[in-house]
Amino acid sequence: MYKQDNDKLYRYLFQNRAVRGEWVRLNDTFTETLNTHHYPIAVQNLLGEMLVATSLLTATMKFEGTITVQIQGDGPLKLAVVNGNEQQQLRALARVEGEVAETATLHEMIGNGVLVISIIPTDGERYQGVIGLDKPTIRECLEDYFMRSEQLQTHLVIRTGEYEGTAVAGGMLLQIMPDGTGTPEDFEHLATLTETVKDEELFGLTAEELLYRLYHEEHVQVYEPQNTEFKCGCSRERSGNAILLLPTEEIEEMLAEKNGVIDMQCECCGTQYFFDKKAIEEFKEEADKLNQLGL
Ligand SMILES: [Zn+2]
Repeated sequence: MYKQDNDKLYRYLFQNRAVRGEWVRLNDTFTETLNTHHYPIAVQNLLGEMLVATSLLTATMKFEGTITVQIQGDGPLKLAVVNGNEQQQLRALARVEGEVAETATLHEMIGNGVLVISIIPTDGERYQGVIGLDKPTIRECLEDYFMRSEQLQTHLVIRTGEYEGTAVAGGMLLQIMPDGTGTPEDFEHLATLTETVKDEELFGLTAEELLYRLYHEEHVQVYEPQNTEFKCGCSRERSGNAILLLPTEEIEEMLAEKNGVIDMQCECCGTQYFFDKKAIEEFKEEADKLNQLGL
């Protein structure tokens, strides 16, 4: 059954405590990300956690732009990357080489690795933070990141699992207001309440029910929710331009090998794009035209 607050992100404010909060649940957003892939379960869960983290992070942005959360390592999971924007459009991708056990920990998957957070405003300067993966979970690494980069006490809940037989990921963020009016005692009190959230509450309740369950003695001001969705930014044009980056001889060889049609599959969403010689020539003409115009 489709629940009212599936694929939603809520922001709220604890009015008497100068602490803000966010809650997100990713249903279709998460399962559509996994659709075209057969990731080991531990990788699937990690991607769910990264999707939640990216969603919560982009919701703290005060500008339009994208955030990329990326893990690189030397273990069987070579790369895991999630991309999100201020409209809560998210996508994720993992590259696995070798076996990943069902119960593999973050470090068993990654080996020696880092977590890279790139914040790319539509207008303005990019920011990149590199975090050592020296804690057992993404959640703890990110709490550390907020403390170091923004000097803001932040508490995160990030969980993945199943609800009524379908994969789901959810999370909460609690952050002391940047204006310095919140006290550590108030923050700790709310963090303790937040930490009591059960999986079935996070995955099954509406926002209203959940916030009441956790904070019924608090004054919580809740803002209009945002929808979250899986959205890949790929296009025929981008794939065509990627082919043009190859040397001409290589394109010729590929065409010969593949009966005159090169197929490009998007790693992220699985969409296939087909190009024959004529289509590639058209892309080339278009690119030459733009080059001549100095674009
Ligand atoms: Zn795609």
